[in-house]
Amino acid sequence: MADPMNTGADRWPGATWYEATTGQRKFARVSGTRRCRVAIIGGGLAGIATALGLVERGEPNICVLDAAGPGAGASGRNGGFVFAGYSLDNDALISQLGASRARMLHGWTREAVTLIRDRIDRYGIDCQVNDAGVLLADWFGDDNDLQGFAARMHEQLGFRLDPVDRRSMRGYVASRRYGAGLHEPGSFHFHPLRHIQGLAEVIEQAGGAVLADSPVRSVDFANGCWRLRCDDGEVEADEVVLATGGYDRRLYPPVQRALQPVATYIAVTEPLGGLLDELMPSPVAVYDTRFAFDYYRPLPDTRLLWGGRISMAARSPTAIRRLMARDIRRVFPSLDGIRFEYAWGGWMSYARHQMPLLGQRPDGLWHALAFGGHGMATTTLAGELMAEALTGSDRRLSEFQGWPPLWAGGAAGRMAVQSHYWMCQLRDWLRDRFGGGNGAV
Ligand SMILES: Cc1cc2nc3c(=O)[nH]c(=O)nc-3n(C[C@H](O)[C@H](O)[C@H](O)COP(=O)(O)OP(=O)(O)OC[C@H]3O[C@@H](n4cnc5c(N)ncnc54)[C@H](O)[C@@H]3O)c2cc1C
Repeated sequence: MADPMNTGADRWPGATWYEATTGQRKFARVSGTRRCRVAIIGGGLAGIATALGLVERGEPNICVLDAAGPGAGASGRNGGFVFAGYSLDNDALISQLGASRARMLHGWTREAVTLIRDRIDRYGIDCQVNDAGVLLADWFGDDNDLQGFAARMHEQLGFRLDPVDRRSMRGYVASRRYGAGLHEPGSFHFHPLRHIQGLAEVIEQAGGAVLADSPVRSVDFANGCWRLRCDDGEVEADEVVLATGGYDRRLYPPVQRALQPVATYIAVTEPLGGLLDELMPSPVAVYDTRFAFDYYRPLPDTRLLWGGRISMAARSPTAIRRLMARDIRRVFPSLDGIRFEYAWGGWMSYARHQMPLLGQRPDGLWHALAFGGHGMATTTLAGELMAEALTGSDRRLSEFQGWPPLWAGGAAGRMAVQSHYWMCQLRDWLRDRFGGGNGAV
């Protein structure tokens, strides 16, 4: 299997819908020698949130360097769902930490959702926010399961999920595929590329530097400072934060060898006009209760953004269109034959323990990596924790010490992850077929 991690070079061909609907913004590139206090490698949300957290704490002497530009990786090409939680599921979080610590850590991701929303207002970022929120739809027709889950989350994590009964579900999604649902209050969906580029501009206005087209080729510590070498120049810094997401594993192997690259996919339909309101009477973002779930949301120009599937190797836009057409038909049979005008994928990174990798190594290099799954709230939280620690308080960051960078197993590890995904897909299928699915489609 090909290893995708080579400094962002493996990108999907063609523009995403997000790129097609975002104005051109120019960011400088690294040339000559620059000096700053903190250099951040990677202009995804982990890097940009760290930089913004520093700027907001009165530390604008920073540089963010990206191989392409802010939001070129997963953070500018994702589904746009902003909701709470980690990739590690909530029950596992409780069993690992006990209810009280799990409640605290989960609570931080809920605060991050609010922080993202507040910053959008505070800085006036035009990123098509839709406050209708995020809905978890039951695929298997087991209402008790969903209610039990909501009750457990409320009792143990203080996490409120509002039940939506079967009849009311039709007010959200006109599909016979689902049973009941859970609505997450405070969640929302938006245009992630405009969001991150808006945050990058705030950083620049405050005196920080955001540098594009500047792949970092090497990182070394010598003569009392870190040196980041790019093609046409270098950056010297007192501290370095590695925030390269699923787009690099060669720059700093001692940490990055703990990453497992995982691709996931999105396609966007042609405009649906009035049909979109008929299919989705309330403009929520929807995902379902399978392990290998679909995720989709309505866009302001009456298109439907549809995402799902994962794999360990990149798929072509044609293959993505074919898979998404199959998936969309199962939920909305009336969309059989619909044209997808955009199709793309993006890389996420996972650690073996499914929690983010956050911390500082003894050699002084900081890292904020492995945000696959529920990414945008945890990346924003990570930015806050890094900024707190870089300005003197690592109290919250140290809560993540129990999830260190463990070797992900290289190519064998990738095959194991792919096999696990296929097993889970099979389990979903068996449960749907034989285990009480509503069989509506
Ligand atoms: C298709 C897709 C859909 C998703 N949907 C959602 C969703 O709806 N909601 C949600 O919360 N999460 C979602 N996620 C997950 C979420 O997008 C990620 O977890 C999150 O954006 C990761 O942020 P990051 O900063 O760690 O990585 P990235 O955003 O990937 O940023 C890493 C950056 O590092 C740069 N880089 C890499 N190597 C170098 C180098 N050597 N020098 C300089 N720069 C370098 C890259 O160019 C890239 O811009 C989705 C992910 C994908 C791929």
